[in-house]
Amino acid sequence: MRPSILFPLFATISTLKGVGDKYARLIKNLCGEKVLDILFHLPANVTDRTYTPPLREAKDGKIWTGIVTITEHQPPASRKHPYRIYCTDGTAELVLVFFKVYKDSIVKNYPVGERRAISGKLEYFNGMWQMSHPDYVVAEQYLPLIARLEPVYPLTAGITNKMLCRLAEESLKKLPPLPEWVAPESLTDLEYISFNQALERVHHPKNMADLLPSSIVRRRLAYDEILSNQLALAFIRQKVKQQKGRSFKGTGALYDKVLSALPFSLTDAQKNALNEIAADQTAPYKMLRLLQGDVGSGKTVVALLSMLKVIEEGSQAALMAPTEILAKQHFETISALCENTGVTVGLLTGKLKAKEKREIYERLAAGEINILVGTHALFTEQVVFKDLAYVVIDEQHRFGVNQRLSLSAKGELCDVLVMTATPIPRSLLLTAYGDMDYSKIGELPKGRKLAQTVVINSSKMPDVISALSRKLAEGTRAYWVCPLVDESEKSDLAAATERYEMLRQYFGDKVGLIHGKMKEQEKDAVMEEFKIGKKSLLVATTVIEVGVNVPEATIMIIEHAERFGLAQLHQLRGRIKRGFEAGNCILLYSYPVSAVAKERLEIMKRTENGFYIAEKDLELRGGGEILGTRQSGFTQFKLADMSSHQDLLIKARDDVQQILKSDPKLESERGKALKILLYLFEQNEAVKTYLAG
Ligand code: ADP
Ligand code: MG
Repeated sequence: MRPSILFPLFATISTLKGVGDKYARLIKNLCGEKVLDILFHLPANVTDRTYTPPLREAKDGKIWTGIVTITEHQPPASRKHPYRIYCTDGTAELVLVFFKVYKDSIVKNYPVGERRAISGKLEYFNGMWQMSHPDYVVAEQYLPLIARLEPVYPLTAGITNKMLCRLAEESLKKLPPLPEWVAPESLTDLEYISFNQALERVHHPKNMADLLPSSIVRRRLAYDEILSNQLALAFIRQKVKQQKGRSFKGTGALYDKVLSALPFSLTDAQKNALNEIAADQTAPYKMLRLLQGDVGSGKTVVALLSMLKVIEEGSQAALMAPTEILAKQHFETISALCENTGVTVGLLTGKLKAKEKREIYERLAAGEINILVGTHALFTEQVVFKDLAYVVIDEQHRFGVNQRLSLSAKGELCDVLVMTATPIPRSLLLTAYGDMDYSKIGELPKGRKLAQTVVINSSKMPDVISALSRKLAEGTRAYWVCPLVDESEKSDLAAATERYEMLRQYFGDKVGLIHGKMKEQEKDAVMEEFKIGKKSLLVATTVIEVGVNVPEATIMIIEHAERFGLAQLHQLRGRIKRGFEAGNCILLYSYPVSAVAKERLEIMKRTENGFYIAEKDLELRGGGEILGTRQSGFTQFKLADMSSHQDLLIKARDDVQQILKSDPKLESERGKALKILLYLFEQNEAVKTYLAG
């Protein structure tokens, strides 16, 4: 139960003065429906309204605030003309100019002969001061209320900044006195301010510096949010660790067989990961481990080898992939590696016929299938294992972070390994996967050819096409990735279709098209044709499946590469590094290219190290959208900015370790305050699984 002290902050914004249904809806879309959401909707800028010299001494283009006497109204001659109001501050005349406004409101707001405080941008025009549509007009005694620094909020249509300023004021009034959850040691910091003070100050910035991520104000708020995140993850982790698990040592029989049949030897990074996994498997607690490795680093082999330990002891393992294509691909890989070892592998996807499914269910329940590979279908009710002991989840971020606790419910005391090909910067790792242990495969197998990357202006497209036609004639296969138009599937599709038609004029039936609007089956069919070589050029929107394996495809052309994020470019390029032939990645760009976009392309040219690229991506883009995290269930911070506040993350993590040691049940004064912090930032999972007992 949420502590009652927080109730006013979790009340809906309709409880604020002047917020009707219509505004409530608009504001909900902008930042949320609670009073707290308004407080967490931080200004991005400030408008300085403290400039108040006599008009005669004012400067052109400044935002001027002062008191004027209204002298005359001049209604427009026609609707095309503006409504003008003449006034003076006693030193110079000023014309207020209004386009398309209701006469009534103007007459009411600017009564002739009276004094008003106004604020707006001054322009010197035709020898006279002019101000169009003043931002403020109020009775003169309210001058001090407008002559100040005004926060500027991110807006949405229908909501004015003035309105948000007012709502922020109203919301601040609801802010209850909150206990201090930051450690006393940290309080002695010279520049310390409290959470409440920080919120007050961020909505009443004293200068632009108050709004920068490096300001003490923003850092305090960021720290609180990060601390809540780290504390929550630590609780979940503790809970997992407390769960008893089974201990699997394995006999080594199958493991050795598969290992010695491999056509290559494991990289040191793979061996390392295997050792770390084995330690978890042997230990009597549940494993929850993230296996990170770039595309092609050999995670599948590692996953398989670790599965064998469980199978050697008569239990079963499951591998879940996010798509049918990937599930099938894993099934084929694993089946091949397990050939002649006696290990039985099954494939279960939604596409199977009812009869085929039933057969799988039966063999599974009887323990005849050792490894089951599949999609979400694995977790439907009919799927009953004889003894599931180990679950591997590929590309899990597509499944959402919170789901992972429930995933292993199929097997009692199941160990869980999550594999991701997305290199994740360390800071994000801590915030999103802080509850998991992790292993990293940081090197690619030796001899792996790199993808030579060139950056070319799109005016050279004809040259690219003729080079491509030579390559295709030699039997190479290629991807042609169409531009991200505006992230709406519709316009992306239009661009892709157009390019498809154009390329068909050169390459005829050899060209295929794949996009997000296609049904799963249609996608599969096109992918299959590309795989077997019936199509040799695949035009695609950015939907090319993560991890799709077509070793013959060694060329990738990306149009409007300047529009893509680094992580996305890296993921796409990963597709042509599956074989042992050197790939060619051609990044086509068109002007305008922003400085950041240029740097992204340079980085792509320079390196293939996914981990380095991920760190750079974080630097260049800041918190929000790293690695396509928006749709992927990564923690989204409202107050913290991961590109600036990484140091706070480390500090918070250490802080949490201390807390867990000294006050694991949050019973001290500070502990109680920390509980409030968890509720404040809605760390619901932690609250549910831990605080609720
Ligand atoms: P990931 O899943 O990490 O993208 P995979 O496990 O699919 O990578 O491996 C990519 C390719 O590399 C596969 O063809 C696999 O057989 C091969 N491979 C894996 N480990 C090694 C290794 N140590 N040396 C050489 N090739 C390897
Ligand atoms: Mg793989």
